[in-house]
Amino acid sequence: MPILADPDIKPVASAQENRRSLAIVLFGSPGSGKGTQSKYLVRWLGIPQISTGDMLREHVRLGTPIGKVVEARMKAGALVPDRLVNELVFDRIRKPDCERGYILDGYPRTPEQATELMRVLASDTTEVVIHLVVDYNVIISRMAGRRVCPKCGTLYNAISNRPAKEGVCDLDGETLVVREDDRPDVVRARLNEYEELTRPVIESFGRAGVQLFEVNASDQGPQAIFESIRGALESSGLVEAGK
Ligand code: AMP
Repeated sequence: MPILADPDIKPVASAQENRRSLAIVLFGSPGSGKGTQSKYLVRWLGIPQISTGDMLREHVRLGTPIGKVVEARMKAGALVPDRLVNELVFDRIRKPDCERGYILDGYPRTPEQATELMRVLASDTTEVVIHLVVDYNVIISRMAGRRVCPKCGTLYNAISNRPAKEGVCDLDGETLVVREDDRPDVVRARLNEYEELTRPVIESFGRAGVQLFEVNASDQGPQAIFESIRGALESSGLVEAGK
């Protein structure tokens, strides 16, 4: 469903008119580095990361009613219902620490989520989409080497971001594990779902006039990718240069 078809949705204001709140949507397939780039952006801009994947995993870990609804779907690499994620995100962005802005990591993931997000965004919020573009072959090899700390959630990678000691978290010494949904068969299911349901979101954003930057995230390291993002946000005037 194209976003432009919804008469309630207006193109966002330009950054020059409005600098009060910046919603940065980090967009890209599973394994494109959204989580890693979110961390750079949090450090640079001092605004929070909102990762729907992390929020949902926390519900599963705590065994909440939401966790019970989503657990099986997440294990299979399938998306969870739109209404449920929308509510999680909308509750989160109303919190005081989101007043200056926030980074959406892994949301929106369907055209319906994008439509709802744009409907609820405050009029003083400027939205910008950063699309991390990565070759699928790169993703499959990256995710095969991915490990996560079960305690603090830090991600490591055998190729680009190794822990100081093999198999152990640098931050808390916990033994690293493979995330269940990083198994190759599940990765393939997630990439298929991305192609079918999520990729159309980017076109919808474009048609709705939301500023969108495409960043090559295939063959540069995380720091270089971050510099590209920073360059795009500064040169467009969305973030003051030298911040
Ligand atoms: P992620 O860590 O972002 O790759 O998300 C892990 C899993 O959480 C996904 O495979 C989905 O099952 C679920 N999930 C995360 N974000 C969303 C979303 N915006 N919409 C639906 N399901 C989601």
